[in-house]
Amino acid sequence: MSKHQTAKKLTVIRIAALCLGLIMLLGTTAFADSGSVPVQVFFAADGSAPILIAPNPAASSPADAPTPIRSAKDMHLLAEDPEGYFLLAADIDMSELAAEPGGANWTPIAFSGTLAGAGYTIYNLKIDRFGAETAETVDGNAKVYKTLSAGLFSALDGAQITDLTIRGADIDVRGDANCFAGVLAGWMQNTLVDNCTILDSRVTLAAACLPEPGATDNGKPRTSCNAGVGGLAGFGAGNGKGSESRTGNYNQITNCRVDTTLVFADECDSSLKAEQFLGGVLGAGYADITGCSVNIEGWAAIRGYAHNGGMVGMFYVYDGTDTIGLISGCQVSGAVNFYENNRDRRAYCDPYVGEKMTWPKFASLSSTFRNGETRDYSAKMTPEQCDQPKITDTVVPGSCYSPGYTTHTCSVCGNTWNDTFTPKVHQPGDWFIVRYPGNGEDGLRIKECTLCGDVAEQEVLKAVKSLIVDRTELSLNYKDSYRLAVEPDPSDAYWPGLKWTSTDEKVATVYQDGTVTAAGRGECVITCATPDGTVYASTKVTVGYSPLQWIIKIVLFGWIWY
Ligand SMILES: [Zn+2]
Ligand SMILES: [Zn+2]
Repeated sequence: MSKHQTAKKLTVIRIAALCLGLIMLLGTTAFADSGSVPVQVFFAADGSAPILIAPNPAASSPADAPTPIRSAKDMHLLAEDPEGYFLLAADIDMSELAAEPGGANWTPIAFSGTLAGAGYTIYNLKIDRFGAETAETVDGNAKVYKTLSAGLFSALDGAQITDLTIRGADIDVRGDANCFAGVLAGWMQNTLVDNCTILDSRVTLAAACLPEPGATDNGKPRTSCNAGVGGLAGFGAGNGKGSESRTGNYNQITNCRVDTTLVFADECDSSLKAEQFLGGVLGAGYADITGCSVNIEGWAAIRGYAHNGGMVGMFYVYDGTDTIGLISGCQVSGAVNFYENNRDRRAYCDPYVGEKMTWPKFASLSSTFRNGETRDYSAKMTPEQCDQPKITDTVVPGSCYSPGYTTHTCSVCGNTWNDTFTPKVHQPGDWFIVRYPGNGEDGLRIKECTLCGDVAEQEVLKAVKSLIVDRTELSLNYKDSYRLAVEPDPSDAYWPGLKWTSTDEKVATVYQDGTVTAAGRGECVITCATPDGTVYASTKVTVGYSPLQWIIKIVLFGWIWY
């Protein structure tokens, strides 16, 4: 088969795939009523088939199209439009943020929109501070605490996070107030997290709480504080005060895989007893969790009250709505190593849920989880067990098929972890236009990898919304020329193949570069239009004779020869 034939065959396959995708989309009830709103075409990380993105049903305007995120810098767009609809269009290396001049690690942000990961990965998320907001958390006695929160998102409220992988995240925060941290979010309510994966990540929370100013319980200064870590999220609010876009408080975590190291250090003021929480998915609070698998390596040194769970440290729907709560179809492996140096013991540690303040419905669970409690309060409660570790580094290069990373291993205690991920590297070929812009809808072009065939790069081709010519009326003398200038709106639209036409070539002709030449006395209209003819601009042209041309035409018999 010749190269030309191969290209032709590929085109046919692509068109067939697009049609199939459209049919599948029409069959999807969630999007079935999206009507005439344009559907966007994007490619999943594996490049196997196009993803057709219908408008976000939860977005403020149903016609909102997703904003593509292609770089770590683009992630700041989420902070600028926290209710927006975003779509990853590439793997993201967050280490670029700190690497640029004057750069810094990611600051956790509050978010209420949609982030569709499309199978792409956010690598090397590094966080060393809490978000700007204060969230409300509660303990098992329904005391309310003003709380700091950290994660990719400080707070998720009415958000949807789907098909996203976070790999190599390192969240290391120290809070002098009540505080929660999780890889995806420090705090969440009324949020759906579906098909997300957390790998090779670590959350380290040092709770160094000071007495909360003005906080009292039963008229006395408060003697407790609230702090916790979760593999996915720190705290799930269960107060029934969900945002209006979804009904009630309905945190849902479905089909997720979490493989994290969680480290909790109790360094709270000696006047306070910490309520401590640690869970592979959720530190404390409420979320329905279904179809998830967890591998947890937990470490916690506690002087207060310990609540540890392979999935959730303490499950609590604290508005009294005890009819909700489900943990189903999940597997847990790993261990939580901890001590509770406290005579008034709680020491909760369970494969699924540490303390069940609200008893969720449990179904189809399996576990090889190990309760690693010790009464040795001098034990080192961190993954690194040596005072003088001997670390060797091994760099594993990336390829088309897997990211690169560095493995660090202590030869004394065996502690090992991966970081410094490099996204998959492709060799992009030439641009290939998947869909031309037209009828006001954007198009798309891609570069396939010449090694593996994955989509290595993609770019939206913006449709021309309108054309603007420099002259809407033009008077020319016979035989004169004028080159009309035209600009598209938006200015970065994709607009090759503009067509120029004249309604009367006896009056004026037009070249395809916009040059108008007067051919005879009279009036005509010159039009430039996009190839599909849906967007155009016109210029009314009037051709006359100059005084000299009148003399040539009449006195010098120019009507014969001129
Ligand atoms: Zn060691
Ligand atoms: Zn490749």
